Amino acid sequence: MTTALFSHGACLRHDTGPGHPECPDRLRAVLARLETEEFSWLDRREAPQASLEQIARVHPAAYVQALLGAVPAQGYAAVDGDTVLSPGSGEAALRAAGAVCAAVDAVLAGEVRNAFCAVRPPGHHAEPDQAMGFCLFNNVAIGALHARARWGLRRIAVIDFDVHHGNGTQSSFADDPDLFYASTHQSPLYPGTGQAHEHGIANNIMNLPLRPFAGSAEFRGQVTDRLLPALRHFKPEMLLISAGFDAHARDPLAQLNLLDEDYYWITEHLLHLADACAKGRVVSTLEGGYDLGALASASAAHVRALMAG
Ligand SMILES: [Zn+2]
Repeated sequence: MTTALFSHGACLRHDTGPGHPECPDRLRAVLARLETEEFSWLDRREAPQASLEQIARVHPAAYVQALLGAVPAQGYAAVDGDTVLSPGSGEAALRAAGAVCAAVDAVLAGEVRNAFCAVRPPGHHAEPDQAMGFCLFNNVAIGALHARARWGLRRIAVIDFDVHHGNGTQSSFADDPDLFYASTHQSPLYPGTGQAHEHGIANNIMNLPLRPFAGSAEFRGQVTDRLLPALRHFKPEMLLISAGFDAHARDPLAQLNLLDEDYYWITEHLLHLADACAKGRVVSTLEGGYDLGALASASAAHVRALMAG
């Protein structure tokens, strides 16, 4: 069994405007790297559009209607200072969330060993009723609740190594003791949430803030000493990864100093843990990463580890 790669051309047609860091070239850079010889065994699949039923498990129907209704026929519509809609944004957002749901289906049906969703817009900042931070729908949370509704899983964990805290995912998970969210992120940094004392209703939220300029040693220490033991204790039935690559040393939006090999390392450890308690079930989805070269090489390291797992 192999690793699936879910993506869709519509994710390139979410246009955030000139000079915006969350640009279509990000996804082009990731996909170009995954076209090279070593990735020829990937099982490449088109991301379907998420259904409104799937999205409504995380976002109120009124929010979904208002967001899709705000998509302009031409030009741009600003949701906030960072978050922009263009004519292609509605379909891109539906495909990004649909990719994670379809990846969950492919893994749980036993068609593939694990999966990576190369999609945009990203999702982890999207609150149930608020788009923000380049995010429209919370793709990973929608995927987690889909795994429950469609496949009857109960205990699901999301690991988020994007350099920013996934405030939206935490909001969606904090009150449910059978959902676990763990995040490594730079602090202080946007969006300002993710303090170490935010634990959720049943210690089901684990925030591991890292100081600016922290690098591999601090990151690996937190993952080894805190994250992996907590995950083992939680015993998830499936693992989802919010794979942002903006903690990379070359990223322009933050000041952490991770390297490509750190992304390989954490992916390998998460796969081992999933093998031990979650029948190896892992679905990963792209979040941030704004240096095109670092994004391509770090996401390649991540997918290389998924394929080796
Ligand atoms: Zn980020």
